[in-house]
Parts: sequence; C-alpha cells; structure tokens
Amino acid sequence: MFKDKIALITGSTSGIGLAVAESLAAAGCKVMLNGLGTPEQIDAARAQVASHGGEVDYNSADLSRAEQVEAMITDTLKRFGRLDILVNNAGIQHTARVESFPAERWDAILAINLSAVFHAIRCALPGMQARGYGRIVNIASVHGLVASAEKSAYIAAKHGVIGLTKVVALENAQADITCNAVCPGWVLTPLVQRQIDDRAALHGLSIKEAEQAMLAEKQPSLRFTRPEDIGEAVRFLCGSGGGNVTGTQIVLDGGWTAR
Ligand code: NAD
Repeated sequence: MFKDKIALITGSTSGIGLAVAESLAAAGCKVMLNGLGTPEQIDAARAQVASHGGEVDYNSADLSRAEQVEAMITDTLKRFGRLDILVNNAGIQHTARVESFPAERWDAILAINLSAVFHAIRCALPGMQARGYGRIVNIASVHGLVASAEKSAYIAAKHGVIGLTKVVALENAQADITCNAVCPGWVLTPLVQRQIDDRAALHGLSIKEAEQAMLAEKQPSLRFTRPEDIGEAVRFLCGSGGGNVTGTQIVLDGGWTAR
C-alpha cells in the first residue's frame, strides 16, 4: 500500500510532523520533509527519518509565504515525479486575549496554520486529479472543534482547516482522493512545552506540576497523546482501511471533547 508512495509532510523537523514522517517512511514511503530549524536540527530530522529506509529529501519553504508553498509542491514533483500523500502539519501558536492580541501574530498564525494548507492543497490537487489518486491529511486540533480562551487566531485557523477539509473532500469525493483532519488534544512537543513553561513561571509551579494542571483542565485521560499516535492515525487514513474515509476528523484527545 505504501511502497514507494511519495509523501510530503510540512513542519516535519520537529514534534508531530517528524513522527508522521517517521511513520510513513517506516511504512515504505519516500518522504519530502519541510520545516524550520538549524542545519543541525534539519540534518538530525533527515537522519532520523532515513533510518527507516527509503529516500528522504528536505524543502526549506517558509509556509507563511504563498509563493514558497507553491515552490515546495513544484520542488517535490520535480524531485520525486509525483505526490501521493500530503500532510499539512506545520503550525504555530500565540496566546493573548483578543483585545491585546498582536495583529502581526494573528496574520502569521492565519498564514501558516490556514492559508498554507489551502495553497499546498491547491497546488497538489491537479497532479492528484490527473492520476486519480491522493491522500490529504490536515493536522488540525481539538481547537478546530471547540474553543479555549486566549487562542483566537489558532482556533479561528483550526476551525477553518476543518471547513476546508470538508470542501476538498466533497469536491473530490468521486475520485480516489480523500481529505481528512486529525485533531489531537495535548501532545508533548516543543509547541506545548512552551505553554507548560509559561504556566510554570506564571503560577510558580514545577514543570511536572504545570503539566499535570494543564492535563487536568482539559484532557480527562490525564495523559499526553504521543506524537507516534498521530503517525498511526495518518497511516490509517492513507492505508487500505481509509479509502472511503473522507471529509471527517480523527480525534485523539483523551476525552477532551467528550464533556
Ligand atoms: P512543533 O513546534 O514541534 O512543530 C511545528 C513544526 O512546524 C516545526 O517543524 C516547525 O519548523 C514548523 N513550522 C513552523 N513555522 C513554519 C513556517 N513558517 N514554515 C515552515 N515550517 C514551519 O509543534 P507540534 O506540536 O508538533 O505541532 C504540529 C501541528 O500539530 C501544528 O499544526 C499544531 O497546531 C498541531 N497540534 C499540536 C498539538 C499539541 O498538543 N502539540 C495539539 C493539537 C494540534
């Protein structure tokens, strides 16, 4: 199913994206990585994914720029000849109440977390439609389904990603092209570590106490979802059991949205 499939995973130099890239590489895909980082971090990510076997390459597109998103798709097609699996994963966060939310942070979050998803899909679809095959997975969030205070831009973007996912699914429903969202609750990655550190500093807590407080507030399982769990969900959606799953969400949130 995955042997020699071509997969592009945005934001795969860290956290969830890196785990998804590893999961797809381990299944047999050739992988194009993307994301920010120092040359050492990028080399480490490449080596980690390559250790599963198969070809790995890296594209340095800054996804806040539409023309770089377009060039990333063109580069992937040039490098590997086609694109079978597109995982839109890159994302950033900023927390502040709406009245003090910096407009520049709003623009950056909307550009990276939502517009880049649109541009990548827009540029990837013609090739998928010509070949009659494609799997698109958008890493949204529980915050694409429900809200929390102080995350207006992130939540607006993630709700937008869920809506976009449904439209792409409908427009391609009769081709063998699916588009789905994965919605994690808390996953312990650098993006969440920064929020834990801020909470610990604000309330004078240890890192462990801040982690537990964060989980207790939202995630009834009191456990973080693991990055590799997201990798497995993506593999399901792109695997043989996922062929007629489209326009929907897989939620890995330890019960967050059940209450
Ligand atoms: P992370 O900070 O570990 O990784 C984010 C990735 O995006 C990195 O590779 C980074 O380089 C890349 N990135 C950021 N800005 C970029 C830009 N301008 N151009 C290219 N790449 C860029 O974060 P993560 O927790 O692994 O998050 C991955 C995705 O999962 C995000 O979309 C996030 O919203 C979503 N998510 C995370 C959690 C969680 O609890 N960690 C929960 C729900 C959803």
